[in-house]
Amino acid sequence: MSELNIKRPKGTQDITPIEVNKWQTIEGVCKSTAEDYGFSEIRTPTFEDTKLFVRSVGDATDVVQKEMYTVTSKGDSEFTLKPEGTAGVIRAVIENGMLNEAFPQKLFYITQCFRHEKPQAGRLREFHQFGCEMIGTKSPIADADLIMLAADVLERIGINNTRLNINSIGCPTCRAEYTKALREYFSQHTDTLCDTCISRLEKNPMRILDCKSPVCSEIAKDAPVILDYLCDECKEHFDMLKCILDAMEIEYSVNPRIVRGLDYYTKTVFEFICDSIGAQATVCGGGRYDGLIRELGGADTPALGFAMGIERLLLAAKRSRAEFIDRLSCDIYLASIGKDALLVTAQLARGFRDMGFIAEYDIVGRSLNAQMKYANKIKAKFSAVIGDDDIKKGVIKVKNMETGEIDNLKLNENFYDRFSDVLNSYLFGDEFALD
Ligand code: ATP
Ligand code: MG
Repeated sequence: MSELNIKRPKGTQDITPIEVNKWQTIEGVCKSTAEDYGFSEIRTPTFEDTKLFVRSVGDATDVVQKEMYTVTSKGDSEFTLKPEGTAGVIRAVIENGMLNEAFPQKLFYITQCFRHEKPQAGRLREFHQFGCEMIGTKSPIADADLIMLAADVLERIGINNTRLNINSIGCPTCRAEYTKALREYFSQHTDTLCDTCISRLEKNPMRILDCKSPVCSEIAKDAPVILDYLCDECKEHFDMLKCILDAMEIEYSVNPRIVRGLDYYTKTVFEFICDSIGAQATVCGGGRYDGLIRELGGADTPALGFAMGIERLLLAAKRSRAEFIDRLSCDIYLASIGKDALLVTAQLARGFRDMGFIAEYDIVGRSLNAQMKYANKIKAKFSAVIGDDDIKKGVIKVKNMETGEIDNLKLNENFYDRFSDVLNSYLFGDEFALD
């Protein structure tokens, strides 16, 4: 045996077939719910020009300062593996002329993201996000509609114990005053703030509110809150949002401390928390980003969005004992005795597969006994043993592996339809029984 012992990189995960059906369930719910709300899928590259993230996510954020996977390749410019989905989507919207299409543009994505973080439960270096973006509306009804979509996704997955926190972090107008107040407040604590936060004091003191260091977060607890500084427009927007959420009977708490980890947010920010999954409890984070499209070179266009971490959704779904679709199991195993029969089973398997059944036959060269053992192991619903005699008679004996019941099916043009009847009557009961 080789000495080579290569393991997967720290903070990454293998998703083996047993887990994949759970992923497919969650991804399926995300996709179908987004589509029910009129969103279309968009796919963007795994890596982007580093400047895109520095510009949009913000150069004082943890993501840009500490967590980016950046590569330079053979004299090209600098690229970064996407740490989040919004920046790439907005770049693509601008680059593909989609700002000239009818508003609102409603887009969703499911993608890998990469952040160099300390791996723990619910925090990985390669993780996956489902995200939705709504482009071209400044109305607070859009904020509420987007929150309703996020709440529906969680509910349809079967996650039943989340809390919704909302806040407004204002616009550049009200933020100027607020930033001044924050700078004044934090300046009294320069002896205890972490080094990163000291450097943020000048550049972007709001980022200190999102620092994960216990000392900084303790100091941040008594910092001035943005809600006291909102301008009239932002205040009205936030009040309307609360009114609409009340009318839609969506429960929420106003948490004036949430700022979110990305710089591009304006006005509304929100998160869904699921306490049962441990310390990394934010399953969804989102908000408005009215300035981002212009910042990235597009026409001034309001927009908003959210992202959910699929790994955390999965943890939450398991905790809520949500149901996952079953792994598809084999409908029929075609065992063969002899070479001629083997060829017939290959042809039959193809016919079954054309009809949408999951069919297997012996591609290993096993004895009949071993073939039947294998059929049991893969939990085939039906089996048929095919020998020269059956071929001559043109009749296939199809056996229900659970009851042992046998149906004789003629090998004619109705063969697959007859099997369909047999399978349906087994799966769904008598109304499908053979006449
Ligand atoms: P956190 O405060 O947990 O670090 P964040 O503010 O960095 O979250 P966002 O950038 O808003 O998170 O990303 C949206 C969602 O993506 C999060 O709510 C979370 O569910 C998921 N997420 C973010 N970072 C990770 C990660 N390293 N591993 C797994 N999921 C993640
Ligand atoms: Mg983070």
